[in-house]
Parts: sequence; structure tokens; C-alpha cells
Amino acid sequence: MKQLIAYCGLDCEKCQAYIATVNNDDALRKEVAAKWSEWNKADITPGMINCLGCRADGVKTPYCASLCPIRQCALGRQFGTCGDCPEMDGCGKLSPITGNNPAALKNLKG
Ligand code: SF4
Ligand code: SF4
Repeated sequence: MKQLIAYCGLDCEKCQAYIATVNNDDALRKEVAAKWSEWNKADITPGMINCLGCRADGVKTPYCASLCPIRQCALGRQFGTCGDCPEMDGCGKLSPITGNNPAALKNLKG
């Protein structure tokens, strides 16, 4: 599986935080920060919008780095992604992502 597929199956190359980072695009960082603040009811600043991918080396958003329960779980269990986990189909941590995103589930199931 390509490294820019996240633990949850999302494609990091399509994430606006990743796109803003690789293009060093401050206008897009501002836009993403405003949108994510509203969606998450949290104070997300443009400076937090720096991420090179959930499974890749390098900078990550604070959420990806340490808050996401999916990433922490898969990392702790030393899975390549959730696709390696025998509990994937019934997992309540993963389902908010894969339930809304058939492409992510497809990526995990290979
Ligand atoms: S941080 Fe969590 S939700 Fe975000 S891409 Fe990684 S596993 Fe998926
Ligand atoms: S229990 Fe859920 S979040 Fe944890 S590795 Fe398995 S599928 Fe991923």
C-alpha cells in the first residue's frame, strides 16, 4: 500500500492540509483552519495546518500526531494500517471514517 494512504484508509494526497503543506500555501492553510475549526468546534489555527501524511515521516497536524484514536491504536498494535487488523469490520473507532468514505474502506481492503 502506498505510504500516503493513512492508517484509516484516507488518501493523504487528497487532504487539503497535505496540499497546503507541500505547496507552502498560507491562503489554503487559513481556509482549512477556518473550515476545520467550524466542523470540529475547536480553535484550529493556520499554523497547525502542516502535515506530510499520517504514516509518512515528517510534520503532522496536532490531531494526526497525537490525538487521533485510530492512528494511536494502529501504531500501538504495530499494524501497517487498520487493513491489517482482524477487528477492522466491527471497529467503532474506524467506522466514523470508513462509514462515510467507501474509498477509504476500499483502500484498506486493498
Ligand atoms: S490522523 Fe487518523 S483520521 Fe487522520 S488520516 Fe490518520 S488515521 Fe485517519
Ligand atoms: S481496533 Fe480499529 S482503530 Fe485499532 S487497528 Fe483495529 S481497526 Fe484500526
